[in-house]
Amino acid sequence: MGSDKKFKLTYGTMYSPPEEFHTSFESNLADLRKTFGQEYSMIIDGKEVSADEKIENRSPINTDQVIGLFQKGDDNIANAAIAAAKKAFLHWRKTPWQERVRLLRKAADLIEDRSYYIGAAMSLEVGKNRMEGIGDAVETAELIRYACEQLEKNSGFEIQMGSDPFVGLESTNRSVMRPYGVWLVISPFNFPGALTGGPAGAAMVAGNTIVMKPATDTPLTPYLLAKAFLDAGIPDGVFNFVTGPGSTLGNTLVNHPDVAGVTFTGSFDVGMGIFRNFAQNGRYVRPTILELGGKNPTIVSKHANIEDTALGIVRSAFGLQGQKCSACSRVLVEESVHDELVERLVTLTEKLAIGDPTERNIFMGPVINKNSYRDFQDFSAELLSAGRLLTGGKVLTDGNYAKGFFVTPTLFADVPFSHRLWKHEMFLPITTIGKIKNLEEGMQIANDVDYGLTSGFYGSDEEASWFFENIEAGVNYSNRPQGATTGAWPGFQPFGGWKGSGSTGKNAGGVHYLQMYMREQVHNRVRKLSDF
Ligand code: NAP
Repeated sequence: MGSDKKFKLTYGTMYSPPEEFHTSFESNLADLRKTFGQEYSMIIDGKEVSADEKIENRSPINTDQVIGLFQKGDDNIANAAIAAAKKAFLHWRKTPWQERVRLLRKAADLIEDRSYYIGAAMSLEVGKNRMEGIGDAVETAELIRYACEQLEKNSGFEIQMGSDPFVGLESTNRSVMRPYGVWLVISPFNFPGALTGGPAGAAMVAGNTIVMKPATDTPLTPYLLAKAFLDAGIPDGVFNFVTGPGSTLGNTLVNHPDVAGVTFTGSFDVGMGIFRNFAQNGRYVRPTILELGGKNPTIVSKHANIEDTALGIVRSAFGLQGQKCSACSRVLVEESVHDELVERLVTLTEKLAIGDPTERNIFMGPVINKNSYRDFQDFSAELLSAGRLLTGGKVLTDGNYAKGFFVTPTLFADVPFSHRLWKHEMFLPITTIGKIKNLEEGMQIANDVDYGLTSGFYGSDEEASWFFENIEAGVNYSNRPQGATTGAWPGFQPFGGWKGSGSTGKNAGGVHYLQMYMREQVHNRVRKLSDF
């Protein structure tokens, strides 16, 4: 991929990439722009499939730009994709795991080779800045590789168990892990690479066949992943890519009796709806991996290094326009350092470059769509009547901003902790800052939400140990200037949530994840010793 060998891209290192990253990104972006308006198919059973109706994929940077035309899949499409996956499962489940690993590794390599192009797609359709875009593409490859590595390290999860102590008989036991069948992957708009390709890769290497349905706002990235799976030689029907609205196509897929398991990443309400539906209407319990929202706090002690704290909070609050599930949306700071921190936060926030995120020096792009744009205005107005606006609170409409969904990074202070927006995931670049009397009070407020995805802490190392002991969240950071609550990377910080942020308590890109795509089977074999 033409990058400096010594440089390893992660969300922690992306702030100072080698020059080649920029030149490669720019040439791939130029190539991608030449394809604007092109029509993209779905892929079912290895074949390109169209629907009667199309959906325009317009860029949130400039809604005049039609990135591509995508298919509006319906019930027939859902049924065809599931039928193809069901048929392919018959042979894919018997394919030796070593061969599955080989094919998935090849797909991961292709995704990394194409990471600048895929990153450019994300910059255009999600509004990610260029490093976030490339980062998501490389993370996708790393998640797939991590799943392959886990299968290999555990020798396909085939384990010899104890032999029963029978007299005159040999009774051996073997535990094996088997795939479930057709696995559905439904992904959100904000990480269309990692959160489509990651679960899809894990499900496939474990021996399941998949149907993936991405968010309607961001179908191009998952299409490019589907092409990489195809080009890697993954057999027809093992993966199927369909596009269309969640409320119709997604709903039909979820409720299909031939779906054996689902990985849904998205909002709490939709995820819980799927879970309740599965429980009520299914003939039996099916594995449901839910990765949902967050309301991620950062607790700041009077012993914190204020410069690192401010930098980490600003990066996590406003990276990807605050539209990360891991975004820092709450800051809880000890009284004695409150004003000093607020001053640094405002200064750093006002320096952030907002604009077309494909450009080199832009940090913050647009929010994803009209609904988010409207929510930003409504939430800002609501908070204004409850607290003190420190900076932001405006939409940007002049000049280059006129045709996109651009808003300003926004900080509020003095909003009473009883206000509903201290607990509601706004999913926007709005962060509230509250004064706490001591760290215990901060911890109580931090944990007093239904979510438990990520969190951050700044203070002494001893206090950090106390923080880790008491915080109720899946991914937790202390004293990290690269990001207070964001930046997870496979193999470094596996990603997943507690409480309303996730259903399994096992994090993607970690050692406990892959097994969720397999079910245990025990083989007991008894032989008479006299037979030998
Ligand atoms: P969303 O509105 O819940 O949509 C997620 C996906 O579900 C989309 O593909 C959507 O399709 C589909 N969908 C909608 N209704 C459906 C239904 N009734 N049945 C089946 N599928 C349905 O979420 P989003 O706005 O894309 O993403 C933002 C949310 O995701 C935030 O809450 C964020 O915190 C969360 N998130 C969590 C994680 C994590 O790892 N925990 C990571 C990223 C994002 P359409 O696009 O066609 O509606």
